[in-house]
Amino acid sequence: MFENLSSRLDRAVKNIKGEGRISEVNVAATIKEIRRALLDADVNFKIAKEVTNEIKEEALGQNVLTAVSPGQMFTKIVSDKLTELMGGEMVPFSPKGSPAVVLIAGLQGSGKTTFTGKLGLRLKKQGQQVLFVACDVYRPAAIDQLETLGEQTGIEVYTERENKNPVEIAQNGIKHAKANGKSIVVVDTAGRLAVDEQMMNEITEIKETIAPSETLFVVDSMTGQDAVNTAKTFNDRLNFDGVVLTKLDGDTRGGAALSIRRVVEKPIKFISTGEKLDNTLDEFFPERMSQRILGMGDVVSLVERAQQAFDEEEAARLNKKLRKNQLDFNDLLSQIQSIKKMGDIKDLMGMIPGMGKALKDQEIDEDAFKPVEAIIYSMTPKERANPDLIDNSRKKRLAAGSGTSIQQVNNLLKQFNEMRKAMKKINRMTGGNAPGAGGG
Ligand code: GDP
Repeated sequence: MFENLSSRLDRAVKNIKGEGRISEVNVAATIKEIRRALLDADVNFKIAKEVTNEIKEEALGQNVLTAVSPGQMFTKIVSDKLTELMGGEMVPFSPKGSPAVVLIAGLQGSGKTTFTGKLGLRLKKQGQQVLFVACDVYRPAAIDQLETLGEQTGIEVYTERENKNPVEIAQNGIKHAKANGKSIVVVDTAGRLAVDEQMMNEITEIKETIAPSETLFVVDSMTGQDAVNTAKTFNDRLNFDGVVLTKLDGDTRGGAALSIRRVVEKPIKFISTGEKLDNTLDEFFPERMSQRILGMGDVVSLVERAQQAFDEEEAARLNKKLRKNQLDFNDLLSQIQSIKKMGDIKDLMGMIPGMGKALKDQEIDEDAFKPVEAIIYSMTPKERANPDLIDNSRKKRLAAGSGTSIQQVNNLLKQFNEMRKAMKKINRMTGGNAPGAGGG
């Protein structure tokens, strides 16, 4: 995320790192670099200017502390400033009421429906009884899409395909939720390709009628300044509660994330990456984001993602098997899938302090797990549960079936056996209380 901006800012701050103290001269060059980096990331011009002026003033006004180097101090100033730019404190998503009503607005293609699915899944995992309401009366395909998401998440979807009045559908949906014991209703609305008057009237009327406790505006962060302008136009009419930034995948430049708060004066509440439901949806913390942009890592978010991806029961089950040294290839597969659920590898690396920078120019193989998965998928269920069954002729079949080489199959089996041997030793030494095997 924001790789380019991160490395540019890092380089800018390095200018100062070697200096003994912060002076008018060395600050000027660095400030210029930072301003250019922000503009290239598509940050609004006025904001880039304001922010860099503020950074400069603060840097020059600092008493030089002996405990920290000027570079460290400068990094801190920039980090604080970016945090402030993105709103300072995090503002939580806090739906209220019974049922709580959440209204989702945004342009067509912004990622509205995908976000609705991700949010529903998140709420469901928190134990909420969720109902989706499909209010796009113009595109039957949009209703189909929400229904598909409903099937994938096991969340009920309320639709009225014959009714062309979205306000009525929203009202009826909420009634349906009340009658069926739902605790939260997420209303997905129609978008257009561009802002238009009819859409604005419609969404405003829905909002006034159903009085949601949270209205979220979804916007595609890849569209940079357009995203910021659209958000402003919507907010002037709709007065929404928060912004959801979607498509913050690898190459997004970051301008939207950095400018939207100051221009629209509404907090970003969620950030979303990836098209699939189990890809990531994170709550937005300005300070963590700023630290990530400056390559300082974001360990807290990393841990939170891990908690979401790995379910506790599964962990307990694995611990038990680990203790009895009964791990098999089914377990390995489920581990790989959990890791992949945490997000794309490069993005994860960026959350580890120092790692993002260290790996910046490295090719990271997103598909490193692919051959391993292909080999495991080629095994019969019996072989997965009992790898000892795999003889030489089966190895050949597995290689052919998975499009890998016999050597790759051998390597996997060898590593697997070594892991089992190691576990056996540890279990013997600890009397079955291997590290991490407690509590199972
Ligand atoms: P809607 O028209 O606003 O409901 O948008 P959709 O949810 O249908 O999304 C539009 C397109 O963007 C689809 O192809 C989605 O798969 C894709 N998309 C949605 N969210 C993300 C995201 O966070 N990252 C990426 N890369 N694609 C996304």
